[in-house]
Amino acid sequence: MNKDCLFCKIISGDIPGDITYEDELVVAFRDINPQADLHQLIVPREHISTTNDLTSSHQMLIGHMVLTAQKIARDNNVAEDGYRLIFNCNQHGGQTVYHIHLHILAGRQLTQLG
Ligand code: 5GP
Ligand code: ZN
Repeated sequence: MNKDCLFCKIISGDIPGDITYEDELVVAFRDINPQADLHQLIVPREHISTTNDLTSSHQMLIGHMVLTAQKIARDNNVAEDGYRLIFNCNQHGGQTVYHIHLHILAGRQLTQLG
């Protein structure tokens, strides 16, 4: 828990989040500014600032985040049509919240990349 971190506050319930899934490792919630019909963020309970801070100790966690995204896709019936998973890192990656999060976007044809 980082007391200055927006996503840590959503995870702890200090500020409201539209949570769709949670377990012992991750929490998923709807993006406040959705870029597609389905736009959720999968975040680890552990505060990790950027993907640069990941180590081999996080391998299971990252795999779990991707499998959680797959489950969200299936539960929302978009798995077959498809979806996009994104980690943004630092300024050039467009990261604005410094607690790693996996975006899942679906529900329309996604084209733009970059
Ligand atoms: P980034 O640009 O860091 O990859 O993505 C941050 C995402 O967090 C953005 O898509 C933004 O809309 C979302 N976001 C920012 N503040 C909040 C918030 O208070 N609640 C929720 N649910 N999403 C937020
Ligand atoms: Zn945090």
